[in-house]
Formats: sequence, C-alpha cells, structure tokens
Amino acid sequence: MDIKEKAKMLEERKLCDHCFGRQFARLGHGLENYERAWIIKERLEEGKNIEEGDIDPAKVPEKEIEKKEDCEVCEGLFKDLDKFAKRVFNALDRYELETYLVGTRIPPEITNNEEKVWAEVGRQWVEPIKSELNRLIGKKLEERLEEERNIDATVDFDRADVNAVMDIEKDHVELQVNSLLIHGFYNKYSREIPQTKWPCGNCRGKGCEECDWTGKQYKESVEELVAELVVEATKGLESKFHGAGREDIDARCLGKREFVLEILEPRKREIDLEKLQEKINNKNKDKLEVFNLEFCEKGMVERVKSRDANKTYRAVVELEEGVGKKELEKLEKLEGTVEQKTPTRVEHRRAQKTRKREVKDIRWEKTGDKELELEVKGEAGLYVKELISGDQSKTKPSVSQLIGVGAECDSLDVIDIEKPSSYKQL
Ligand SMILES: [Zn+2]
Ligand SMILES: [Zn+2]
Repeated sequence: MDIKEKAKMLEERKLCDHCFGRQFARLGHGLENYERAWIIKERLEEGKNIEEGDIDPAKVPEKEIEKKEDCEVCEGLFKDLDKFAKRVFNALDRYELETYLVGTRIPPEITNNEEKVWAEVGRQWVEPIKSELNRLIGKKLEERLEEERNIDATVDFDRADVNAVMDIEKDHVELQVNSLLIHGFYNKYSREIPQTKWPCGNCRGKGCEECDWTGKQYKESVEELVAELVVEATKGLESKFHGAGREDIDARCLGKREFVLEILEPRKREIDLEKLQEKINNKNKDKLEVFNLEFCEKGMVERVKSRDANKTYRAVVELEEGVGKKELEKLEKLEGTVEQKTPTRVEHRRAQKTRKREVKDIRWEKTGDKELELEVKGEAGLYVKELISGDQSKTKPSVSQLIGVGAECDSLDVIDIEKPSSYKQL
C-alpha cells in the first residue's frame, strides 16, 4: 500500500488530524503528526501524488488544528492536551527539577480503537497514540515550566528528576520523584557513634524503656548527623547512607571514608553543597567532618559500596607483660597472609568461615612499659583487633602469638583508606 492508498482508506474513517497523521509518523522529520495530516489531505484534495519527500516541514499548509470530538480512535483526547499538561504542571508544583519524563495511561478502549485501524491499513509508518500523547503533553509542560516557573527543563529517559504519569481515565497524575545523590568523604572523631542508625537491641526499633523510646541503640550516627541538615535543606522525605565499608563504633576514622548520601523525594535540588558542608562541619565539630560534597549519578552507589580498598590502621596495644626489643622484632612475620576465623565478637551476626587476608605492612613503636603503638596496612576486610589479640587462636598469626604475651587493642584509628587514582587530590 502506498501513501496515497493508505490516506484514501483513512479518509473513510472519522479521524482527527492527530490520529490521521500518526499513521504516517515515520515519514518526514521535524513536523508533528497533525501537520503530516494537513499535507496529505491537501494533496488528496488537489488530486496530487504523495511521495515521502512531500512530508516536509516546508510544505505544511497554514491551518488551525481541527478539534474533532468524534474521532473514532482518540475519542477527542487531543483536545484536552492543555488540560493534561496543566494537571502534570500542578502536580510538579512542589518540586524543583531540571529533567522530567511524562507518561500517559490511556483507557484500553482507545488502544483497541487504534488496533482496529491498524488491522485495516497496516502498521507501516505508524506511531502508537501513547507515544504521541507523551510527547505533546511533555512539550506543553516544558512551555509552562519555562513561562510560569522559569525552568529550562529537558526530557531524560534514563533517570529524570521527576517521572509523571498522567492517568487519563482517573484524571490523576502519579509522580515518582527520584532521589538526590550526594557523594563525599567523612572522618569520624568520636569513639561513640556508629556509621548508620542502629536499632535498639531490645525492641528492634519500636521504642522501649531501655532505649528511652528512641528505638535506637545509639543516640546518633554518622548517617544521621550528616543527613539531618541535608534533608532539611532539600525538604526530602528521608535519607539512606551508603558507605564504602565501615569502621567499628569505637574506632575513629581519620582516613576520609567515601560515602553516598541518598535523599528520597527531595523537593529542592538546587542546594549550595559548599555551604551545607560548612554547616555540617560546624555543627558536629568534635564528632565528624565531611569533605568534597558533590552531586553524583545513581551508578556511584554501587561503585562506592563495592570498593575493596586497602586501609592503614593505628592501634594502641596493651600488653600483659613487658616485652624486649628482640621479641618485638618477631612482629615482622605478620606481613603476609593471615587466616582469620569469624571473630567471637561478631559471631552472632556473621556466618562462620575462615578468611585469608593480606597484611601489607606493619610498624611498631614501644610507647610504654606494657604499651605499643602499631601501624598496620592491610587488605579490605582484615580484622585488626583480632590480629592483635589472636582471638583465642582464631586469627593466626597474631601479635600476641608472635611475641608470646597477651595483647589487646586499646584504641583503633583508621588513618588511611586507599582511593581510586582519580581522587588523589584529596
Ligand atoms: Zn483522534
Ligand atoms: Zn528499645
């Protein structure tokens, strides 16, 4: 069937310009379906031939869109484009956005109407009605956003700030607001706060007397202290914290640990991260510090969570007895592979297994009669406290085993976390 034959068959039906022209949507570029309809109908009237080259923006006749209510495909939907766009515009009212995606949910009988036409004239050159509606509502939305909110918004098919679905039957807009992601690094200067919210062990978060009805085991966490001001600034619903590993609660982190903070359903996206960083740091001076806050893409969450960085620790070690220089030299032997069974202190929440981890470097200094300062560089996942104590021989070799004297980690700091080379500016 050529263009003219198809057009003649379609002329027999009651179709609006949108629904007529949409059957030729793949012919020509830079024009709308109703304009295709105008060109084709005019040429039919004049008894002219219709070639693909005639569907050209330069050949569109001057006309007004005819708003047929009784179109047998769309049943008059296209006359409501302004209304749909306004619905979506109003739904977006509370949200800042730079990118959007508009979808429509159309009544099934309209899809059926379209199928009937296709059954007769075929699917060559066609575009589904849904895709035309999405595009035209989006276009009108864009105009409104520019005129009324002065926003230069663009379509994003992958991950728009906001996805809006216009449900035509229910006359209702469904919004899906994508989270705002902020990448950064933190140091933790307190030995009393966990990285993330920790539910009360007694009530598991419901709230009880033991946790003073907070539902939390610890009053605050890195997550909460960092997120509090960001949630406030973005007017978000809540936050999620994705860290590149974590340190023990009683360990300080001085090595700038990478994280992504995710703010769910933010209403504001244009926030000054530099100022926010300053505010967070001023408010939490002796507890933590954040660095290099930057907006990031969704893929960053997985990248950050899967980093296997080498880390360097500084530990103050208490010995049961004084030890001579010669004995201490045996600590050299810690460099190499260490076998660690699941530590006693995490047995209740980790599976029993034996891990092999590399100790890459070890240095020590005697700082007291029965005190050492150790610096250990190790592979990700090395349990340093157990490397010191031996954990009832579950870790071999260990500091205690090598020097033949009981040893305990008194305090632990993460002093360096290896970063991908692109972060060397830190
Ligand atoms: Zn129509
Ligand atoms: Zn509780």
